[in-house]
Amino acid sequence: MAEDKFIPYGLQDVNEEDINEVVQTLKSNWITTGPKITEFEQEFAKYIGCRNSVAVCNGTAALDLAVASLGLKKGAEIITTPFTFVATANSIIYNECAPVFADIKKDTFNIDPSQIRKRITKKTKAIIVVDYAGQPCGYDEIIEIAKKNNLYLIEDAAHSLGAEYKGKKTGNVVDLAIFSFHPVKHITTGEGGMITTNNDEFARKLRMLRNHGIDKNVLKQNSSVGTWHYDMKLLGRNYRMTDFQAALGISQMKRLDGFVRKRQQLVEIYNSELKRIPEITTPFVSNDVKHSWHLYTVLLDKEIDREKVFLRMKEKKIGVNVHYIPVYKHTYYRQKFNFSDKDFPNAEEVYSRIMTLPLFPKMSKEDVFRVVGALKEAIKEAGNKTNQESRI
Ligand SMILES: *Cc1c(COP(=O)(O)O)cnc(C)c1O
Repeated sequence: MAEDKFIPYGLQDVNEEDINEVVQTLKSNWITTGPKITEFEQEFAKYIGCRNSVAVCNGTAALDLAVASLGLKKGAEIITTPFTFVATANSIIYNECAPVFADIKKDTFNIDPSQIRKRITKKTKAIIVVDYAGQPCGYDEIIEIAKKNNLYLIEDAAHSLGAEYKGKKTGNVVDLAIFSFHPVKHITTGEGGMITTNNDEFARKLRMLRNHGIDKNVLKQNSSVGTWHYDMKLLGRNYRMTDFQAALGISQMKRLDGFVRKRQQLVEIYNSELKRIPEITTPFVSNDVKHSWHLYTVLLDKEIDREKVFLRMKEKKIGVNVHYIPVYKHTYYRQKFNFSDKDFPNAEEVYSRIMTLPLFPKMSKEDVFRVVGALKEAIKEAGNKTNQESRI
């Protein structure tokens, strides 16, 4: 037992071929904003089945630009889920808009369409949804709400590369979608992100926004200016990705379907093993989606002391995690806004009971059995909350 290796909750899989592609690009004359970026964008768009892909330096930058490209006025309200990584909601604040949270569904932990409806006001201009853990949201209903109320729809698909909603790949379902290539996500470029859209006007704007808001097509439009001319039309950022990152991305894309299959295989083992533990609820999967399993999360029964289980798992060198602390609970959000925990009973309940177990393509079946064995022991060792109270 003493020599057991630590199993993290997520880990990249970078092989020799991937490394070779990066090295080749570093030896070339283009190491940023060159041919590898274009190739990565084209391969990505082909995989998703969408018209445009725009590569940026990380998923948070992708979110920031997706919101920026909508060109909303200061104070516009954007509805989103509280059960996500802080970056989703932060992108709203970067753009001087107001985040409005709508509670999640009890089964998928995705945003609840009926809660979205309740939060719509005259100021609402957009919705940002998250495909939690890799399971696409219920898009038919959400798209209908967006259409009816004239709202833009952004999909934070950071968890769901390779997933499908009714046979359509995520990233090809709504106005704009974003992806992340952080090492724990489905494919990695170290840091990296992508925005996908079928709207060419958004794509043109996004390309300007990632490069200081500079329009490079000035010459074509205005022949009276010199060849040296360029024009900054929007307040953009420098969110460019390097070509050696794109080279890694292209190589990783070839392995993506294999990564997703491996995740699914490991999940099947988790599901069949964990079904036998009465204190645990395994993930619910809706029947109109293909889940791509960024995260494998379980719910512990209310009586189980999660903190004790968590500590025991860490002692057993299992990298458990909690995804997520609802965004409105963070200090910055508490200080700046007046959200009340009581408005999000489902997020509160799930947050109090959830635990993420390790899942990544390089994990072996034996690793999964080790996690399951450790979890059984940890639950036993932690005892339940009521026993402890009576012991005091
Ligand atoms: C990872 C993640 C992001 C941000 O991606 P980075 O590439 O780390 O900036 C955004 N939203 C969600 C839901 C994520 O999981």
